[in-house]
Parts: sequence; structure tokens; C-alpha cells
Amino acid sequence: MQKTATQIHAYAALEQRASLSKFDYEPGVLGSWDIEIAITHCGICHSDLHLVKNDWGFSTYPLVPGHEVVGTIAQRGPEVNQFEDGQRVGVGWQCGSCWSCEYCDRGEEQLCSQNQATCVGRFGGYADRIRLDSRFAFAIPDNLSSEGAAPLLCGGITVFSPLRQYHVTSNMKVGVVGIGGLGHLAVKYARAFGCEVTAFSSSASKEAEVKRLGAHRFILSRDAKQMESAKGSLDFIISTVNVSLDWQSYLVA
Ligand SMILES: [Zn+2]
Ligand SMILES: [Zn+2]
Repeated sequence: MQKTATQIHAYAALEQRASLSKFDYEPGVLGSWDIEIAITHCGICHSDLHLVKNDWGFSTYPLVPGHEVVGTIAQRGPEVNQFEDGQRVGVGWQCGSCWSCEYCDRGEEQLCSQNQATCVGRFGGYADRIRLDSRFAFAIPDNLSSEGAAPLLCGGITVFSPLRQYHVTSNMKVGVVGIGGLGHLAVKYARAFGCEVTAFSSSASKEAEVKRLGAHRFILSRDAKQMESAKGSLDFIISTVNVSLDWQSYLVA
């Protein structure tokens, strides 16, 4: 049975670039496929900052950020049988689609023209609860901590997806360019895939950290000799930096 809606307590930017402040809203009716998640953890993704600042031009305010959500199921709509009450689940960037177009039919809901982002035009995960389509929630395995699982739901998938899409396998030598939030996850994934991992950074101070995370080799990208030494040694390079690089120095045979 659906319970009566009670206010959700969130944190919102009330206007462009504003600091977050307390903001309550009525969640509306719980749909047939919806779940209500009692949120315990939510990651901070750079896209949340872009949204608060309206860097992409489509933010609306009040804006409740948050799309790396982990919590437990507090309510389920009548169609939701894949989860149990109290089960720990996570939600990433996407939380809805039309379910009837050619893309949705073949399991590519991310390409649906009606795809719905978790905190764009609706209120996201910086809150005590959230309601959304259960078909965009994932069970969190018991061996993952909630604080460790939350950043995987957007940052993690951002680097996991290309490793999978380009069929990176354990016999490959993988380079990871940039050792920040995304790069450190890419190093850990590539290492877990069984790859030989080379980390590239413009900051020498990252070497010890990135080797602790699993990189076999560190290349200081500002050092032409070190770059030369890596020539022809990689099968696959993943770039996690949002600046234009000297691509030629990475791509020479
Ligand atoms: Zn669709
Ligand atoms: Zn994100």
C-alpha cells in the first residue's frame, strides 16, 4: 500500500551559484514502478557543480543536486518486485525513460529522447529521500561500502564504460591520463581487469598515490624523456582530463 506523501527534506541552490540551503518539497504520488529511497549517502560529482552554476544553460532553481545516490528502499510501487523493502540500492545519472521507443526496447535507455536525469528538472539526491523509477536503481552488493559505492554510480561508470565498450581485456597495456576523481577509478578498474597499467600525470606528487592504487608505471607527462620512453608501449589510452592535450605525443606509433 502507498503511504501518504510526506515532505522530503533536501538541500538546494535557490538561485544560480548560490550555496545550498535547506529546502523541503512534496514528492507527489508514488508511481507503479517507483521506489522511495531513504538516502544514506550521495556522492559529489563535478556535474553537480556545473548544474548549480548553470554552466550548461538548462538548470532550473531551486536545484537539488545529487546523482550518486545510495540508500535503502522505504516504499515500493505495486509493480516493484525486483527489490525488497529495506534493500540497499543505488541510482546514478539517469532515473527515467519512455520505455517504448526503439532504444528503450533494446536496452539502450540512455539514448531515449525522453531520458530523465536524476537531478535535472527534478530534485536529486542531496536529501533524506528520493522517489524514482525502480528500473533505474541497482542493488548494491553486500561487500561494497555505501560511501565507496556511491561515486561508482556516475564517476565509476564514466571510466568503466569505455573499458568495456572497447573490449579491454587482461592481456592489454592500458594508459590512464589524468589522476583525479575519474583517473584514480580508471587505474583501479584497469588493474582489476588484470591489465598492465601506466598512469600519466603532470604532477609528480601523484606517483606514490597512483602506484598504491595499482598502477605499474608512472609517467610524468611534462617530461619529454619520460613520454618518449612510453612510446609504442600501450594498447589503449583513456583520458580523464577536460583540457586539450598534445595528442600527438600520446598517439605516435
Ligand atoms: Zn525511450
Ligand atoms: Zn556525475
